[in-house]
Amino acid sequence: MRKPSLFRLFVTAVIVIGGASLAWVTATRTAGVVEGGPLLLWVMLGCVIVAELLPINVVLRGQEGELLTSTAFAFATLIAFGPGAAVPALCIASVIGDVARRKPLQRVLFNVGQYAIALTLTGVLMETITVVPRAPLASFIGADLPLLLVCGIVFFVVNTALVATVIALASGYPVWTYFASDFILQSSTAGFALGLSPLMVIVGEFSVGMLPLLALPIVAIHRNTRQAVLSEHQALHDALTGLPNRVLFHDRVRQAIESARRHGSTSAVMVMDLDHFKEINDTLGHYHGDRLLQLVGQRLSSLLRSEDTVARMGGDEFAVLLPSVGDQSYALDVAEKMLDALRASFEIDGLTLEVGASIGIGCFPDHGEDGETLLQRADIAMYVAKAAHSGAQLYEIAQDQHSVQRLALAGELRRAIENDELVLHYQPKVDVATGRVVGAEALCRWQHPSLGLIMPDEFVPMAEHTGLITPLTKTVLNIALQQVADWRSQGHRLSIAINLSARSFLDSQLLDDIPELLAVWRVDPALLELEITESMIVGDPERARAVLERLNELGITLAIDDFGTGYSSLAYLKQLPVDEIKIDKSFVLQMSGSHNDETIVRSIIDLAHNLDLRAVAEGVEDQGILNRLTELGCDVAQGYHISRPLPPDRLEQWMSSFPLRSTWLSAAGAAA
Ligand code: C2E
Ligand code: CA
Ligand code: CA
Repeated sequence: MRKPSLFRLFVTAVIVIGGASLAWVTATRTAGVVEGGPLLLWVMLGCVIVAELLPINVVLRGQEGELLTSTAFAFATLIAFGPGAAVPALCIASVIGDVARRKPLQRVLFNVGQYAIALTLTGVLMETITVVPRAPLASFIGADLPLLLVCGIVFFVVNTALVATVIALASGYPVWTYFASDFILQSSTAGFALGLSPLMVIVGEFSVGMLPLLALPIVAIHRNTRQAVLSEHQALHDALTGLPNRVLFHDRVRQAIESARRHGSTSAVMVMDLDHFKEINDTLGHYHGDRLLQLVGQRLSSLLRSEDTVARMGGDEFAVLLPSVGDQSYALDVAEKMLDALRASFEIDGLTLEVGASIGIGCFPDHGEDGETLLQRADIAMYVAKAAHSGAQLYEIAQDQHSVQRLALAGELRRAIENDELVLHYQPKVDVATGRVVGAEALCRWQHPSLGLIMPDEFVPMAEHTGLITPLTKTVLNIALQQVADWRSQGHRLSIAINLSARSFLDSQLLDDIPELLAVWRVDPALLELEITESMIVGDPERARAVLERLNELGITLAIDDFGTGYSSLAYLKQLPVDEIKIDKSFVLQMSGSHNDETIVRSIIDLAHNLDLRAVAEGVEDQGILNRLTELGCDVAQGYHISRPLPPDRLEQWMSSFPLRSTWLSAAGAAA
């Protein structure tokens, strides 16, 4: 069992002592009360029960709880009839209420015990320091009030202390902190209700029929508290899914870690990101995206235990806290179950959607000592899972040095973009027929302060998964256009090609950034070329066409990159305002060795020309391929044989020594 023995000891003690108190009070005090039994007694008993059945829901430290006004009626009964009536009344009401709420037996018994102890103690105190109830005319007089107040406070404090202790022992949270916050929360409402109890007695003794009037202030308390609970709930929950939000999640993680530290147990934090959610959102619209997030939240919640937490951290990112797991592999099992649950398709308004997800897991204490570190580690593991398509992944500190560095990179990329660590290398594109340099493709590299030059395959996918692709693309555009302006000032009119990620292409930000940056560097739009891949178009043809048309209106050149690897329908391609097809280098590289590949290259060139498009071959590694491309009528060539991608100063050197006189050819001119 995970629950500490101290907890069980305490619960047992409360049940035993409470039961004894109840028996003792009933044996020694109840007889006379029942015989007298006026109408008021039965009405009050009824009130205690009804109040017990209508709890006020509250949220305490993000944990849902209940506040009962039954204690106020019980206290009123105590004033009017003494403990012989009040203690059994509250115990009976508590059992009825708990059974109605299907609480487990242990809880039912504990609640009875706790009430019996608090109320018996208060009753004995009242008997000792006051003469209340002062039968037969009135239960109390004005002079009794100060001491009654003392009794009320004792009742409240003892009651709260017992509850706070048991919750603290169960959750591992320090007793005092729990007591303090519980006390403050309860005192505002329960304190008021307790203060009302002498009034109940006065009114009841004046006329039982007027007691219902007192329901009004209690209803008001109910309503106010509900409002307060609602706003507290809103502050800590995500409006769309109703799940805990980031703030509440962090708080729960902190609590779980404190508890795990005390008990020497393990806690697991998971970060989950849906695959392709943005595409779904962009393609089908926010309505479907929102519904999908709600359904995902529901599926995850229904899978986990009540003590676990599923939170929505924002966007398509969810987080899960398992406060207590046997070991790390258990957490991994849970993550696999979550992935299984998500694999079943989602039905939204007759539409069937499939989503995958990647989950990263960080465990206390092995992967971090605090919530912040754990979440960061889980995030890194999630990135690894995504990159490896492995679904779920535990954070691993030292698989090998390389991956550690890579993992650390994810956290550094934002800083790198801001600190100008991204550099562009330029690979010239040459007109096959004339040998003139027509432009260059900008290829991004990360000049890392300690790791040296990092290639785009290592960090561009990372940027895509961490939301950094938008600033990355903007930075690349900015550097590239500045370079074109530089070349212009040196007398070269060269076009520049930029690679776009799917996320950037579908990001409306792009359509704002491009004209802005073209204006800043005063670059002719015809000199800017954007390379997009077939898959970006296939994913959402309508949207893609709209974006392409807008870019075309701006006068920008458009190229389909890696052509031949996707599935774009040729008929569709014809309708798009593209200017250039770049034959994927995998075909070009193999051309001399493989007859099939040569056929593919030749077909693509023919297709391009039939559609009035320019055909560009990338991956030209030797003279033989270049010769063959010339024979096939390919327009432009790019590859290591001509030049590797070069930093800007080396490119200038290269151009001045390039054997075929380097001059320029307007990209727009060639397209026309
Ligand atoms: P890509 O668009 O297909 O770029 C061409 C890649 O082929 C470059 O790799 C280039 O160095 C390499 N290459 C050029 N000629 C030859 C050759 O003759 N033989 C061989 N084997 N390879 C050749 P690089 O620079 O590593 O870039 C890899 C990919 O990273 C690019 O593929 C592109 O998809 C992506 N990328 C680069 N820069 C950016 C960027 O700024 N933004 C985005 N979104 N993606 C970028
Ligand atoms: Ca490219
Ligand atoms: Ca390519």
